[in-house]
Amino acid sequence: MAATIQTVSESKELRGLNLIAAHSHIRGLGVDPDTLEPRASSQGLVGQEKARKAAAVILQMVKEGKIAGRAVLISGPPSTGKTAIALGMSQSLGSDTPFVMLSSSEIFSLEMSKTEALEQAFRKSIGVRIKEESEMIEGEVVEIQTDRSVTGGTKQGKLTIKTTDMESVYDMGSKMIDAMTKERVMAGDIISIDKSSGKISKLGRSFAKSRDYDAMGVDTKFLQCPDGDLQKRKEVVHTVSLHEIDVINSRTQGFLALFSGDTGEIRSEVRDQINTKVAEWKEEGKAEIVPGVLFIDEVHMLDIECFSYINRALEDELAPIVIMASNRGNSRIRGTNYRSPHGLPLDFLDRVVIVSTHAYVKEEIQQILSIRAQEEEVDLTPDALALLTKIGQETGLRYASNLITTSQLIAAKRRQKQVGIEDVQRSFALFYDSGRSVKFVAEFEKRLIGDGGAVSLSVTN
Ligand code: ATP
Repeated sequence: MAATIQTVSESKELRGLNLIAAHSHIRGLGVDPDTLEPRASSQGLVGQEKARKAAAVILQMVKEGKIAGRAVLISGPPSTGKTAIALGMSQSLGSDTPFVMLSSSEIFSLEMSKTEALEQAFRKSIGVRIKEESEMIEGEVVEIQTDRSVTGGTKQGKLTIKTTDMESVYDMGSKMIDAMTKERVMAGDIISIDKSSGKISKLGRSFAKSRDYDAMGVDTKFLQCPDGDLQKRKEVVHTVSLHEIDVINSRTQGFLALFSGDTGEIRSEVRDQINTKVAEWKEEGKAEIVPGVLFIDEVHMLDIECFSYINRALEDELAPIVIMASNRGNSRIRGTNYRSPHGLPLDFLDRVVIVSTHAYVKEEIQQILSIRAQEEEVDLTPDALALLTKIGQETGLRYASNLITTSQLIAAKRRQKQVGIEDVQRSFALFYDSGRSVKFVAEFEKRLIGDGGAVSLSVTN
């Protein structure tokens, strides 16, 4: 059905690149693999022990295939590590378990309907591990014959291989001949050939031909021809997402659409066909379903239609685990006049497991900032770190973290390698945090362009 396409592990590297930059120090959940107890500071994560333990338990259930079709909500104040924990989870998943990150505002695009965008995100989060059998031949090379074609290049040839019980002759194309030349294969070598990919590996020399080595004192044990059946079957496994299979089958240029990202809407008949096909493969033992993780950030931005879609999609046989994050308390459910906790409809909230994060204490802020500085290769004096920590306590972790780079630029201007307290002070004066920005806007409201009817510097008429 599909040609060689990007696998889940390859596309994982490209996903959510800009989001990951701020979290590049996160390497996992930092928990003990046996007890799932979080370590105080490990794999880039600091504190937030309860939430990390809960995340580790959920992850364990994902790995055991027990939690597909559930939803988890990570709730807590801004900058308390909700996204960081979700990313920690993604790092701990195997490379072929899909992890898809979606910011709720991405749903509201003009290119496709909200539910189509959600459906694509859901299907990106479900992997299909496809097994293919390829035949391997292992044996001793008896003879290699190549023909020169009219144009001069060696295009074809014959290869005689001796396995334990017989000698067989294989036709070789130019690709295989090139591979043999590259590996410097000669008569007497033990080689393996993967018949589906044509890949050749040299395993050693046959015992019969290695008596000379023996005389030279070379240990010939590892050169011996392996015993037993030399015709082997090898399993090749690759994991692609359901969405990738949909795209490839939905358009003539499907393969290219995957690279451009311009996949458009996919017809429901195509998805039905794929579901049937995948179910068949599963039945025949050719494929396995790997439910992955769909992370929806700023979930309060979704509206009632989206929630009703997710509610239904979670009941589907092919559902990933959905992890959502919200920093809202009681707020209005978009598309309605009702208010509810985190802006989530109550019936939806009912089926969700909630994990909460809390504000950091001074030591934790200091430790996180210090990890960020290391990650950005910025050398801070103890005073500079102390001031940044104080700023972090008062204005939030994200703002303080952003000041690390700006302070370094200022230090570089002074031709200093180390960032000092004065660089942080300058940086703090140059760039406003949200609190000061609000104050500034309030003070100068009359002079700014706004929609409040105040006298403004509007240049529109
Ligand atoms: P928001 O509600 O505003 O989206 P959030 O809770 O998702 O915020 P993050 O984006 O995860 O917060 O955190 C802000 C920054 O602080 C990020 O760079 C993140 O990697 C870092 N960070 C937060 N918590 C931790 C932690 N416990 N350990 C290490 N780094 C952390």
